[in-house]
Parts: sequence; C-alpha cells; structure tokens
Amino acid sequence: MTERFSFTLEAADGRARKGVISTPRGEIRTPAFMPVGTAATVKAMMPESVAATGADILLGNTYHLMLRPGAERIERLGGLHRFMNWSGPILTDSGGFQVMSLAELRKLTEEGVTFRSHVDGSRHMLSPETSMDIQRQLGSDIVMCFDECPALPADHDRIAESMRLSMRWAQRSRDAFGDRPGHALFGIQQGGDVEDLRGESAEALQEIGFDGYAIGGLAVGEGQKIMFQVLDYAPGMLPADKPRYLMGVGKPDDIVGAVKRGVDMMDCVLPSRSGRTGQAWTRRGQVNIKNARHADDPRPLDEACTCPACTNYSRAYLHHVFRSGEIISSMLLTWHNLHYYQELMAEMRDAISAGSFDAFEADFNAQRSAGDIAPL
Ligand SMILES: [Zn+2]
Repeated sequence: MTERFSFTLEAADGRARKGVISTPRGEIRTPAFMPVGTAATVKAMMPESVAATGADILLGNTYHLMLRPGAERIERLGGLHRFMNWSGPILTDSGGFQVMSLAELRKLTEEGVTFRSHVDGSRHMLSPETSMDIQRQLGSDIVMCFDECPALPADHDRIAESMRLSMRWAQRSRDAFGDRPGHALFGIQQGGDVEDLRGESAEALQEIGFDGYAIGGLAVGEGQKIMFQVLDYAPGMLPADKPRYLMGVGKPDDIVGAVKRGVDMMDCVLPSRSGRTGQAWTRRGQVNIKNARHADDPRPLDEACTCPACTNYSRAYLHHVFRSGEIISSMLLTWHNLHYYQELMAEMRDAISAGSFDAFEADFNAQRSAGDIAPL
C-alpha cells in the first residue's frame, strides 16, 4: 500500500485512457465511476454492497455533511470513513456547486458565499478556506477546490468573470490545503462552453499545480452535444500525467463519450436516484419497471447481469415491489444500476487495454438501439 497519492497511466486507445490512482486507502481503477454518498450513505445500499458492485471510491457532499450532522461531529467520531463504514478512498466536493443550487438567501462575494441552510435556516459561510477545513475534518482522500460556476447557457462575460473568481479561489484553496501527504487536492477547470476561457483556466490551474484536474461547469443544462463539443478540447488542455475528473456526469452514453474523449473519473447520482424511482439502466437502454408490461414477466431484468436483482428476481417481482412501495424495490434497482455502471467501466478499461475501444463503442450503441427485450 502506497503512502502517497499517485496516478499511473497503463494504456491508451485514441484519447481514451486506462490507469490506476494509488492512495493510502486503496487503488482506484480508471476510468472510474464514483457512486454518490450524499449524506454519508449511498441511499438504499450497505457500503459492502457498494463495494461488491465494483466501486473503488465514493463521493461525499460537503454541503450536506457540514449542515447535518456537521463536519466537527464527524471528525470527533473518527472521520467520514469510519462514520459511514467505508474503508476505501472518498472524494468530497467543495460544497460550492450545491450551495448555489440548494441553499437559501445566498450572497456571493470575493470572500466566499454566505447562505442559510435548507435544513434548518441556520446561517453559514463557505469560502476556499472553510471548504478546505471542512474537507480535512471529514478526512477526505481527494479534496476539491472551492469554486463557482454559472448554469449554461450564459454569456461570455458572465462565464469569464465566474471562471476568474474560481481561479483566485483555486489559489486560496491550494494555500489553505497545505502539505498533506497521502491526500490529494484537485483543481477545477471552468470556462463554460468557451474554448479560450477553458484554456485560460487550464493554464491558471497548472501554474498553481494540483494532484488532479476536474472539468467543472458541465452537466449544468447545456445538453450532450455541447458537452461533447467542450470535451473535444477541454481534457487535452490538462496535464496528461494527472487524473481528469468530469464532475456530475452522467447517463451511460455520456460516460462512454467522456471516456472516449480522455476523461478518467466521473460521478453522478443518476444510477442510485433512478433506482428509487423505478428506472433501471441496462445494456439495452432504460427500463421503466413501473410499466404494466412487466407484471407477469418471469424473466430477469437483464439475463446477462450477475447482480442480485437479476440473478434472483423476476421483472414481475421488481414491478410488484415497486408498485407496493416496498423498500426492497429501491435496494434491488439501486444495486442493479450501480452494478451496470461498474460493469460498463470495467468493459471500457478492458477495451482500452485491448485497443478495441471503437469496437466496444459500436457494440454499446448497437445494443442500446436494439432496445429492451420484447414483451411476452
Ligand atoms: Zn442486474
């Protein structure tokens, strides 16, 4: 087990990359998908079940955890890993994105953001310095810079102004983070969908120097076409020898397109959130288990899937427990969705090693366009 944070590239196929991030808490195989454990739990899953799906790393949300149960309390209780019983690496976001989307009475200044909690109305302040301090209290392995970004579409001046503020905050985050061997700090590229601003941001971040680089400000309403246009140039602006993390993405086809364009890490609530609303993601696309067509169907959701939902239960059962509001419905569909996402990542890693990413992508698209199995 390494004592330091490091990234090793093992193979490349076109711009797609396979590698491994080493941390004192374990290795992260890349391309990696990180399930989201917002409130110190991946909803409806035991941590050992999340590990069984093949996840190497979880994401925790600073904004939620600082408000409830509080970062100081988690620190007193031995840190987030011990608190939630996950011994592998954890990445925490900075709280910046969620404070802008969830908190009330926000006020943004050069110093940071003051806001009222959406939980109990209490007043708080997030800044580069407080965010670094909270992520240290949580015991995060990969800490994200505190930043800010506009929803897209936005005009050039708004994107530029926001990006430059985030770059000043990136320097303050770096200074406040200090020297913490075994822990990594990632910078976040901003610049919306404007190529020269993305370039300016990438240069500013590299001047400061980070252990990894995120591509922020995407998946904020711009749609897949514009996101892929940005990903055609944005990853290449970042250092090739450091991991590249696309924040908040996405659907399976977003993930495949991002990996193809040189992204190494991603996170999204989609597989877990969908699991609680009766939506399953499979290699044949999306299946709505609520649909009456499944009520008498004795076949598994996906006969090729080895997850517990597909191995031990029929579509008819999954349909029944969802319609009855049974808790096992969320448990089984979340497990299946996370399993599918991790299988997808493993298939992409294998394809990159084999130099067959194009063939993988053609097969991925063909299976999805064929659609779900016909009703009985
Ligand atoms: Zn399954």
